[in-house]
Amino acid sequence: MTRKTLLITGASAGIGAACARLAAPTYDLALNYRTDDDGAAKVKADCEALGAKVILCKGDVGDPKAITDIYAAIDAAYPRLDALINNAGIVGQTARVTDLDYDRMRHMFDVNVIGAILIAKEAVLRMEKQGAGSIVNISSAAARLGSANTYVDYAATKAAIDIFTKGLSDEVAASGIRVNAVRPGLIDTNIHAKGGEPDRAAQLSVNVPMKRTGSAEEVAKGILWLLSDDASYVTGTTLDVTGGR
Ligand code: NAP
Repeated sequence: MTRKTLLITGASAGIGAACARLAAPTYDLALNYRTDDDGAAKVKADCEALGAKVILCKGDVGDPKAITDIYAAIDAAYPRLDALINNAGIVGQTARVTDLDYDRMRHMFDVNVIGAILIAKEAVLRMEKQGAGSIVNISSAAARLGSANTYVDYAATKAAIDIFTKGLSDEVAASGIRVNAVRPGLIDTNIHAKGGEPDRAAQLSVNVPMKRTGSAEEVAKGILWLLSDDASYVTGTTLDVTGGR
């Protein structure tokens, strides 16, 4: 059977890396990341050991020129693009809205929203020619909860991803392309340390009905299901992987 090709943005760590390892037996991979060369090399080696062809596409999805370069590398390596996990995302330092400045908000929207939309646009251009494709955008429970006193700007970027998912899915459904989103809850990755609170997920897990954080692998399983033909009649939806919150 011909192996499908999958682009994962933000695949050097966390949820993106877990998706890559779970997908490797089925998909050949294009793995994007921004800075972590060692992390990306480790994920690549793990995926190759599981049977995947892998290319690394280093680049900042917040930079449109980098997105052009990412797709040039994919087009050179693979004849088609079957699937996209639009996962790269950032938070800022925890703060109240009155402490947010323009540069932080501009950067967060450039990466989490405009970058994700441009990455999806380029995928759709290729998938429409093929008459098939599947996209999963990574949102957050923050899109529902608002993240008061921590990062309301981040929550707003993820709410944008939710409605982008719905609109794009309606636009491309008749072309054989499915577009869905996953909203992770408190997941045990390094993103919390990058926001200045390494223990954030563990501390807040008392508010989760299941009383624990989730793992990147638990989120990846939901993402890979939505991406697969097992979800062939599912489009325009968001799947919460949140332990109930
Ligand atoms: P993570 O562990 O911090 O990993 C983030 C990944 O994205 C890394 O591979 C990073 O690459 C990459 N990345 C960051 N900025 C990038 C950019 N501008 N261009 C390209 N790649 C970039 O984060 P995670 O927890 O796995 O989060 C993955 C997604 O899930 C994000 O969209 C996040 O908002 C969402 N999410 C996470 C949680 C959670 O609790 N962890 C909850 C809800 C939603 P480098 O390190 O190489 O720069």
